[in-house]
Order: sequence, then structure tokens, then C-alpha cells
Amino acid sequence: MTHVIFDLCIRDGACVEVCPVECIVPGEPEEKWPWFYIDPDTCIDCGACVPECPVDAIRPADDLADEFPQYVGAIDKNAQYFSEGPGYPA
Ligand code: SF4
Ligand code: SF4
Repeated sequence: MTHVIFDLCIRDGACVEVCPVECIVPGEPEEKWPWFYIDPDTCIDCGACVPECPVDAIRPADDLADEFPQYVGAIDKNAQYFSEGPGYPA
């Protein structure tokens, strides 16, 4: 399981500061990757990032499908940022 960031993200970076495993990164370039993204292979599902988000844009992946089915594609997007996209900054 992993937490995921979805469409509501405003890129303020608050979640990055609290992640104990540093698995949240800003999407670059922003035009193509408009949110911050969580690496599903590293996230330990601690939930620390959730209360930090000012716009409530982070959910456990399993809950996203139930609460916001219109945004469920974000589960693949978060994974793809690391598997096919730029991933962690150099
Ligand atoms: S749930 Fe925990 S480990 Fe996963 S992204 Fe949020 S702060 Fe990081
Ligand atoms: S705290 Fe929320 S709005 Fe800010 S970067 Fe993280 S997910 Fe995006």
C-alpha cells in the first residue's frame, strides 16, 4: 500500500518536510507533471503527510478509489512518475 497525491495539489511542498523516508518529490516539468508525487515503492504508509496538506490532496491509495473515484487515475500517475517519468531529482 501507498499514499498518493492527486489532482488538488497546489505544489506548496508542505508534505515533503514531514515524510520520514523522503519519498515525495515535485513533478518536473510542471506542465507535464503538475503535482507532487509519492514513490509507492518507498512510502511506508505512515500518514504523516496527510494533515500537512492545506488542500487535502493526499490519501491512502485504497481510500482514493472510494472517496474520489474521479481522481483514481492518480494512483497510476504517482507510480509512473518514478517508473516512466523523471523520478527523484539528480
Ligand atoms: S504516508 Fe508517510 S511515508 Fe508515505 S508519503 Fe506520506 S509521509 Fe511519506
Ligand atoms: S502538501 Fe498537498 S498541496 Fe502541498 S505539495 Fe503536498 S500534496 Fe501538494
